[in-house]
Amino acid sequence: MRQLIAGNWKMNGLRAEAIALAATLAEELRAGAGCDVLVCPPSTVLAAVAEALAGSLVMTGGQDCHTEASGACTGDVSAPMLRDAGAGWVILGHSERRLGYGESNALVQEKVRAAATAGLTPIVCVGETEQQRLSGNAETVVAAQIDGSVPTGFAGVVAYEPVWAIGTGRTASEDDVVAMHRCIRSQLVETLGEAGAGLRILYGGSVKPAGAAALLLLPEVSGALVGGASLVAADFLAIVRAAG
Ligand code: PEP
Repeated sequence: MRQLIAGNWKMNGLRAEAIALAATLAEELRAGAGCDVLVCPPSTVLAAVAEALAGSLVMTGGQDCHTEASGACTGDVSAPMLRDAGAGWVILGHSERRLGYGESNALVQEKVRAAATAGLTPIVCVGETEQQRLSGNAETVVAAQIDGSVPTGFAGVVAYEPVWAIGTGRTASEDDVVAMHRCIRSQLVETLGEAGAGLRILYGGSVKPAGAAALLLLPEVSGALVGGASLVAADFLAIVRAAG
């Protein structure tokens, strides 16, 4: 399975720096990459980044979308709007939205449907808190997130992101990553049937160049969702090259 390295820029990037980062990635990857490469900038610069990446192998995505295509939803961005701005992908159910905005599995599932209807490939994030891991419930929590967030016919990507590893510099052990990715695979097959066997499962949570190659060799790891390191061109490129 071809791996996917996706950068989540979060709420970072004014126009000039976002375009400069995109242009550097496009230029550095002109000769190709051994994996699929995606960046998800803030929606304010999405169109400019998509334009800077036009003709390159680097794809563009959004970081969230509303369930509705349009309407009285002040401050929100819809899936067709992301598509219109040049996105082909969208991150959904990130823990910063599940925990910070109270997004439920049911809401994430509605967003996944809206994204697919608009022609976007959804990346559904799942992951346990530290307390859930310490109490031995990590796999149960993540399996329930998959079951509740992934609709019938899902043709996207799942990203396993332990909440305690995001932005902390801590990463899950190799054994824990393998065990959780196997659990996610079996839940995907249970929910989706055979189609679940072919979907990519990314790992996310403080992925840095140093540990990337070993991480990307682990069974059932089909790429990485990268936050902080995706804002530094050299670091993101090193992770992309580790996948190649
Ligand atoms: C993320 O928020 O999706 C993420 C993986 O962040 P970081 O790499 O900074 O931990």
